[in-house]
Amino acid sequence: MGMIVAIDGPAGSGKSSTAKEVARKLNFTYVDTGAMYRAVTLATLRKNIDIENDKLITRLARKLDIRFRWIDNVHHTFLDNEDVSDAIRTSAVAAMVSPVSAIPGVRIVMAEQQRAMVKNDNIVMEGRDIGTNVFPDADFKFYIDADIHVRAKRRINDYRKIGQSLTIEEIVIELKKRDKIDSSRSHSPLQKAEDAITINTSNLSFQEQVDQIVSIIREKSD
Ligand code: C5P
Repeated sequence: MGMIVAIDGPAGSGKSSTAKEVARKLNFTYVDTGAMYRAVTLATLRKNIDIENDKLITRLARKLDIRFRWIDNVHHTFLDNEDVSDAIRTSAVAAMVSPVSAIPGVRIVMAEQQRAMVKNDNIVMEGRDIGTNVFPDADFKFYIDADIHVRAKRRINDYRKIGQSLTIEEIVIELKKRDKIDSSRSHSPLQKAEDAITINTSNLSFQEQVDQIVSIIREKSD
């Protein structure tokens, strides 16, 4: 098996952009597990399935074909061969993704797929439960966090990119709701693994976050 780097933490902590750049620098494969849960949520919304219908949502999750591809240096997510990279980032999906992700059957299906993605590759996998549940024996575990207002500010730009304008206050409310559901669900909640290295990015530049992680990995794997 290749080397596994698990990067967990809440939304807007800088986790995604950092994980992507760490993977690029080390030439590792990057897996965005949040995008997988978002794709399941998009499919659930499109089919108008009631959120209470755990069984049907789990069955749907099992059938979906979720893949990633780099196109001109941009990471794209495909759902049954359709490019859903922007569609999974809307506020409608953000509002439903935590309830969908709390369904135990959905988590079991996603974790199976995530484990199957690791063959002999070196991987940077990013999410909420990678170091605790998907790969408890990962070679490196990082937990990335930041102040809620810093996190909300970062998200504003993400929404702008897809043409949605939300206020800081609206985003703070969304993030708090997601944090609460993500950390209190019964199956694999968002939690720092005991052996994870915490990096608080509130006062770090993007380059500093990347450099800290890359140097820890390089130092220990030499
Ligand atoms: O990372 P991102 O903000 O795109 O994740 C969206 C949502 O997907 C999270 O708020 C969480 O509910 C869910 N998620 C999860 N487990 C993961 C990754 C994401 O439950 N490993």
